Amino acid sequence: MYPDSTTSPPAPGPSLVWCCHSCGNSISPLSAGYSQVDRRKIHAYEKAFAEWERRVDEANAGRRLQVIPGDLLLDAPMPVAWTVTCKACDPAAGGGNHYWISLDRAATWPDVAEWTAHLLGKTWFVHTRWSQLLRDLIGWNGGAA
Ligand SMILES: [Zn+2]
Repeated sequence: MYPDSTTSPPAPGPSLVWCCHSCGNSISPLSAGYSQVDRRKIHAYEKAFAEWERRVDEANAGRRLQVIPGDLLLDAPMPVAWTVTCKACDPAAGGGNHYWISLDRAATWPDVAEWTAHLLGKTWFVHTRWSQLLRDLIGWNGGAA
């Protein structure tokens, strides 16, 4: 089952380093920080994206081959960023309009993989920039970002 072990999966490894996007400090203990995304911004993005798609359709009216004109390409709305914050920078962790994750529940790569699998089930997830958060996390943990 596991090539280097007889009965159990590999140990998850050391705790990940998470850094606050506001102050830049690494967060310790991890329970003193969280990652969040603002649901109101997701809703605004969804509306802006629907309007942008309508403009693309309008620009392609009567064409057999659909293209995105350059001005519309530059004008495409940006999916919503996840932010990492320490409680010193924002004592009101999360809040009613945010989806938030306490970082002590995302302490290892397997934890982050589990969160990713969980979030992939949310219809709004593709309207966020989780990939950028993963790249930040890779960078904070010594990988190329
Ligand atoms: Zn901070």
